[in-house]
Amino acid sequence: MFNFFEERDHKILSFKDTIQSKIFEPISDLEVEAYTSKEPLSYPERTTGDRVVLQPGEKWGDLFDCAWFHFTGSVPSEGCAEKIVLLIDVNGEACVFDDEGNPVRGLTNGSSIYERIHGEPAKKVLQFNDCGKEGQKVDIWVDAGCNDLIGELSKDGTLEQAQIAVCHENIRSLYYDYWILCELSCVLDKNSARYSRIMKVLFDSMNILQTFNDEEIDKARQILAVEVNRKNADPCLTLSAAGNAHIDLAWLWPIRETIRKAARTFSTVLELMDRYPDYVFGSSQPQLYLWVKEAYPKLYDRIKAKVAEKRWELHGGMWVESDVNMPNGESLIRQFLYGKRFWQSEFGMDTEMLWLPDTFGYSAALPQIMKICGVRYFMTQKLAWNSVNKFPHYTFDWEGIDGSTVLTHILPEETYISHAGPRAISKVEDNYAQKNVSDRALLLYGIGDGGGGPGAEHLERLERLKNLQGVPPVKQEFSEEFFKKIDRDDLDYPRWRGELYLEKHQGTYTSQAKNKKYNRFLEVKLRDLELLASIASLYGFEYPQQKIDEIWKEVLLYQFHDVLPGSSIKRVHDESLQRYEIMIDEVEGLTQGLLQDISGNIGASGTENPVMVFNSLSWERDEWVKLGQDWANVNASAMGWKIEEFGKKIPEFAEFKATQLLLENDALKVEFSQDGSIKSVWDKFNEFEAIRKGEKANVLKLYTDNGDAWDIQTEYRCLPVEYFKLENSKAYKDGPCVVLEQNYVYNKSRILQKIILTQGSSRMDFETTVDWHEKHKMLRSEFPVDILAEQATCDIQFGSIKRPTHKNTSWDEAKFEICAHKYVDISQNERGVALLNDCKYGYRVFDNIIDINLLRSPDFPGKDADQGRHTFVYSLYPHKGDHIEGGVIRASYELNMPLTVKSLPDKKQDLASSLSFLTVDNENIVIETVKKAQDSNDIIVRLYEATGSNCRTVLSSEMPVKDAWLVDGLENDLQKIDVQASGIVLDVKPWEIKNIKLNLTKV
Ligand SMILES: [Zn+2]
Repeated sequence: MFNFFEERDHKILSFKDTIQSKIFEPISDLEVEAYTSKEPLSYPERTTGDRVVLQPGEKWGDLFDCAWFHFTGSVPSEGCAEKIVLLIDVNGEACVFDDEGNPVRGLTNGSSIYERIHGEPAKKVLQFNDCGKEGQKVDIWVDAGCNDLIGELSKDGTLEQAQIAVCHENIRSLYYDYWILCELSCVLDKNSARYSRIMKVLFDSMNILQTFNDEEIDKARQILAVEVNRKNADPCLTLSAAGNAHIDLAWLWPIRETIRKAARTFSTVLELMDRYPDYVFGSSQPQLYLWVKEAYPKLYDRIKAKVAEKRWELHGGMWVESDVNMPNGESLIRQFLYGKRFWQSEFGMDTEMLWLPDTFGYSAALPQIMKICGVRYFMTQKLAWNSVNKFPHYTFDWEGIDGSTVLTHILPEETYISHAGPRAISKVEDNYAQKNVSDRALLLYGIGDGGGGPGAEHLERLERLKNLQGVPPVKQEFSEEFFKKIDRDDLDYPRWRGELYLEKHQGTYTSQAKNKKYNRFLEVKLRDLELLASIASLYGFEYPQQKIDEIWKEVLLYQFHDVLPGSSIKRVHDESLQRYEIMIDEVEGLTQGLLQDISGNIGASGTENPVMVFNSLSWERDEWVKLGQDWANVNASAMGWKIEEFGKKIPEFAEFKATQLLLENDALKVEFSQDGSIKSVWDKFNEFEAIRKGEKANVLKLYTDNGDAWDIQTEYRCLPVEYFKLENSKAYKDGPCVVLEQNYVYNKSRILQKIILTQGSSRMDFETTVDWHEKHKMLRSEFPVDILAEQATCDIQFGSIKRPTHKNTSWDEAKFEICAHKYVDISQNERGVALLNDCKYGYRVFDNIIDINLLRSPDFPGKDADQGRHTFVYSLYPHKGDHIEGGVIRASYELNMPLTVKSLPDKKQDLASSLSFLTVDNENIVIETVKKAQDSNDIIVRLYEATGSNCRTVLSSEMPVKDAWLVDGLENDLQKIDVQASGIVLDVKPWEIKNIKLNLTKV
């Protein structure tokens, strides 16, 4: 029961809805015909779909169907001399086109599934004529998608509304005056004078508005104006507000819909910019702009004009808003390289911001990568989603593994889709922990995730919030302007060292395993290709720059924060997998072509069955390789090739053993239980037992996993566990290898695991093929190793980080699943054990157990995720010392980047029989990338210090180096470097990435 005063206040606040209902007055219905199709049609093709004539309430499509709507009618006499608008809602997303086929304005259905706390998603008012003329014709074409902003089918694909209406501008202004005071009253102290005054003018104006004639409206506005115009005297905090739309490039809708979402969103922005002179908007992701450029060139030109006017901001430097947990270091650099080059070539602009508001956690390698790519500022809000600990800072210096820092701002409102009202501003002030230091905070407003962007309502509110007494003033300005204002040496911000781990969405390290596998595979294969093409270019073969750039950009596209993490619908993943397969074929084709070019010119005199062994890693490798049925032990040159002889008899390795219960080579002796699990791994080289006594390793466990693609429910460890059962096994020798093949079964799913030991190697490979038909199950394997360690070492981009093996604090406990790249290692002083992988990212390390997440099977948002066949390898690697002394870094590279073996065709003998293109003489240094420079024929070499040590190294090449420069990540010259007879001497700091440009003599 309301008391008297509550009832009065409730009446006052509800009255805004009454005012709103008077703004638009429908005066005539529009005629509606639609041409429907399954996929989008262009403007010239608009009448080629199936024609239907529609009345409101009639159905025109199913989810993701498309239609061109044709609305016709004429202004009736009631509209004469009035402001005329069209009210259009097709219960889907739509875009109005002009007579030349260009997008002019987006329309969004009011029934969109959207959290209303962030505002109303509807955009259904189309400006038509400021002074209506009787009989004026309406004839417009609208391109529609039968999906709402979030990829849902709203109201079953029916037409909602199509009308001509009068817009009463004075009521509209009155409404926003009334609205802003209503919402302000909700955040004010109820004992304040300000509150009392506001309630009084709202009450008085409500009582005046009986018939809504012009006189009443003017009177009510005058009364409200006193409080709407009341200002703060000397504010401590000012908000910078920037419009945005957060258009996910793919998520609950396919990529093809994103391109249309961009047209809708961006055309709406431009229309509103004409009506609201203070309005500034920003959008990220060059990929999105490229799509707009290709599909809607005139719209793109209009955007370019607004960028030039400084009304439209280019947000962030990455090609897409990428995931940054899983892409490798080179991918992250390429995100900036291609992203910033696009801004430069298309707009003549650079940006110093990284814009990742929605990405699921941030690697500790990022600050350095940002810095070498000319990026100083980082904007996000995702850490507000932490499920356990509240992240303590909003403005802070974020320090990466190498000590680089970037100024970071987490949106204090904890959303990037603010409704831009007093409630939002008040939340910013409440939350902003650095308000004691900084007098600025950033607010991002506009409907987003599926695009849409700001509506007129956001801009009407901001007009009234420039300095409204009771909440901090708000200024519309670019986000980068905001960063420049808070980037002051005299301000003492807190510092956060290490990764920005998101305590949520840990399932994304594993969901949609094939996306992850293909991404890793392409990262590896592009690396090999670029090195090979760089070498080949010096022999006069063409470097396939354009194709490599194209493929890289598409790989970067699928690193978007809902694709690589696996959190999109089935269609998105299916389409990306098809494209990955095509790209893999293209990269393989280019690589084989270059190998053919080179190998056809290599000398191999004196050898009977010569093969070329290509090694892309920056160290020599002695390894066994197989070609057909033949094995050979080869010595491969660093980053180059060597001719080796095949077909020679190899030793018998009689002392090696392969039975169903025992595998033994010169390095390891592995004992198995009857159920297939491992009970002992004896490291013969280092004389220790790797598995803790009495425990079982490599048990293939099935956990109940009721999470979705994002989240693993933490209680999964408390639920009953099931196991794959060993059906049969066989053991055999294959050249230098001993192999145990195990066949496991569970329900309709099967696993074939080949456990392989190879002569000379301490690596035990688990080559795994899974035929997976489970739902809501998670497949994991664990290794309870006999190591006592407080921390695990996890491979990340250009380095590694430590994570706890315990749950001492809530911050430790929250890391119940962690992301690592090629290895996780736990070591004590004299020995350790690593678990390597060739395409997995989800691990759990607790006490002495390293546990790898192999597969999940969520059903949302991607239906039937992860069903079918999967292949992957993980490897147990016991070693002496810690992961550095034990050679874990190299072992993990070697697993991921196997040697390439190629038979030599007819030999011209022009090229040397071995080449070490590049090498470094310090084991701590890894050459990650060798590529041709984007703008010249020079060669870019990217190397890094991989252990956390200061060191000196000599980078040398067997090809004469004429000149060398230190460059940044974007390949801009920093300084010339001396080239000495021995090579280039480099002093490298812990974890430092060095980019070097070499001018090499052509052979
Ligand atoms: Zn997103």
